[in-house]
Amino acid sequence: MKLIRAGEAGRERPGVLLADGIGVDASEFGQDWDEAFFGGGGMDRLAEWTRREGVRAPRLPAGARLGPPICRPSKIICIGLNFVDHARETGAEIPKEPVIFFKSTTALSGPDDDVWIPRGGAKVDWEVELAIVIGRRAKYVAAERALEHVAGLCLHNDYSERSFQLERGGQWVKGKSCDTFAPLGPFVATLDELGDFRKLGMWLKVNGAVKQRSSTANMIFDVPALVSYLSQFMTLLPGDVISTGTPAGVGLGFQPPQFLKAGDVVELGIDGLGSSRQRIVAEP
Ligand code: ZN
Repeated sequence: MKLIRAGEAGRERPGVLLADGIGVDASEFGQDWDEAFFGGGGMDRLAEWTRREGVRAPRLPAGARLGPPICRPSKIICIGLNFVDHARETGAEIPKEPVIFFKSTTALSGPDDDVWIPRGGAKVDWEVELAIVIGRRAKYVAAERALEHVAGLCLHNDYSERSFQLERGGQWVKGKSCDTFAPLGPFVATLDELGDFRKLGMWLKVNGAVKQRSSTANMIFDVPALVSYLSQFMTLLPGDVISTGTPAGVGLGFQPPQFLKAGDVVELGIDGLGSSRQRIVAEP
């Protein structure tokens, strides 16, 4: 199953992407894709609803804006330095345990929405990442059982303002949380929709030039390991997002560094999880 949300920002309707790529308006299902939905067995009920009603349910208008494919979650947790080549390009050590940081949930935006260069920012950078959406409350979960707590996976661009992140003191969260810095989607796919999620190709281009090309196979800590690890330190709630880290090829890693400016276009994708496209603009 593939979950989407479409419509103007803040007023998106929940939807389902059918096998033929057609988006169905699931408003009649009666729930949006939020904590109560995921935590209340919503995925099973939605699969049943889609089988029964998918064919006759109203279609989403072609070309409708896509919002983030889930409602605002309780938290967005990010994993730092989870690819060896990326750790090297930033001059960091290879982590022995996952490096974790938070991203404000107000950073969430639609997959093709504009990204704003924040006031005082001049070092906006890209990071293609695989994001996990939690399906069941997780606390002290063993890696062997971690996938039972995963609703699905989706594409994420973990934008950063490097000057806020690295030059202004304190924690990375400062440079990760600006409005529009978490374009999520186009859709959340359940694991059965994907091939082996441990081997998904991932890529990112800026103005048509490839900057990042890798595979989820190169992650140091994989999806089950990360869900299990995080659940030792905090309760993961249904709908929570875990962004699993980026491979080499971020702007910071180039000599000299390359940062985004107004007018640039960033495109990215992960096998089976679709693609997204953001135009960079000054914050309106
Ligand atoms: Zn990241």
